[in-house]
Amino acid sequence: MSKQTRVLVTGAGGFIGHHLVKRLVNSGYWVRGVDIKEPEYEATAAHEFHVLDLRKYDNCLEAVSNIEEVYGLAANMGGIGFIESNKGVIVRDNTMINLHTIEAARVQGVKRYLYTSSACIYPGYRQNEAAVTPLREEDAYPAEPEDGYGWEKLYMERICRHYTEDFGVDTRVVRFHNIFGPLGTYDGGREKSPAAICRKVALAEDGDAIEVWGDGEQTRSYCYIDDCVEGIYRLMRSDYREPLNLGQDRMISINQLVDMVSAAAGKKVYRTHDLTKPQGVRGRNSDNDRLRKILGWEPQVSLEDGLARTYRWIEGELAKAGRLTRESVAA
Ligand code: NAD
Repeated sequence: MSKQTRVLVTGAGGFIGHHLVKRLVNSGYWVRGVDIKEPEYEATAAHEFHVLDLRKYDNCLEAVSNIEEVYGLAANMGGIGFIESNKGVIVRDNTMINLHTIEAARVQGVKRYLYTSSACIYPGYRQNEAAVTPLREEDAYPAEPEDGYGWEKLYMERICRHYTEDFGVDTRVVRFHNIFGPLGTYDGGREKSPAAICRKVALAEDGDAIEVWGDGEQTRSYCYIDDCVEGIYRLMRSDYREPLNLGQDRMISINQLVDMVSAAAGKKVYRTHDLTKPQGVRGRNSDNDRLRKILGWEPQVSLEDGLARTYRWIEGELAKAGRLTRESVAA
């Protein structure tokens, strides 16, 4: 049997990192997971799991020791409500985590390094309309990213470029577009729109109204977690070093998202709109031309299917926590 490649997944206690660990273990890698906390909903599949604060350089050195490839997913982050009201903490923590991790990887001679960027790096001036033109990778400049979180992501993309050019660290940069699925945060303030809407619909009774942030006409595309980890895997095995979108290119409004979740739940749910709540950009969609060309693949799971699986999982978690009334459970 050939020697297993030893990889590190940072943020392995979080949503995407936890799923990625499972995917890599299933593909035969030896995996070390690191996070500041253990996974919340099920045990890790990693061969080793270290609880470490990656803002500290010494911890990063420990995390990358004897590692050939790093998948960097650790970040202090959340949905739009969280990132708009915690900019200082986010840029401080994520700058420390990312710079210390890539520097430790360089020092330890890591062969390949993945940085997880975001659609939040795209300029606000390209996203002012709900009927937005899908965002191509080269649209990132001239830069006007999401304040705080998006600036740090774009800055770190540049760091990866410089570490490749000047130090020979072989980097990959992926820009996620709204990843969702089971085992993601669904409550507490850091959750994203699909999980928040699944929770609200699950807690509602048939014929109830749920609150939507903004007028609900803002648009997004959403990508199911299984496609996300498949795309990460393919990008890491490719020789492509420029930033690459990873998302679905089917754009819908938040109001349509509510209707899809209601359909998955088998409930009629009405909407109220809180126009004082943050909505982020008006419209956002991924242009997947380059993704298809580079990876020879694109996300496969339909939004309806992914939302149905996510809804069932969140409903199940709420039921376990005793938060569902008998009436709120779908027939
Ligand atoms: P997540 O919050 O579920 O996971 C991030 C993990 O990082 C958490 O488990 C957290 O505990 C850990 N972490 C935070 N501070 C740490 C520290 N100091 N030391 C060690 N670990 C620390 O988020 P996610 O959705 O899994 O996101 C993973 C990556 O993908 C992040 O870089 C995020 O910015 C990026 N991303 C995600 C999305 C999305 O839709 N989920 C979109 C764009 C980009």
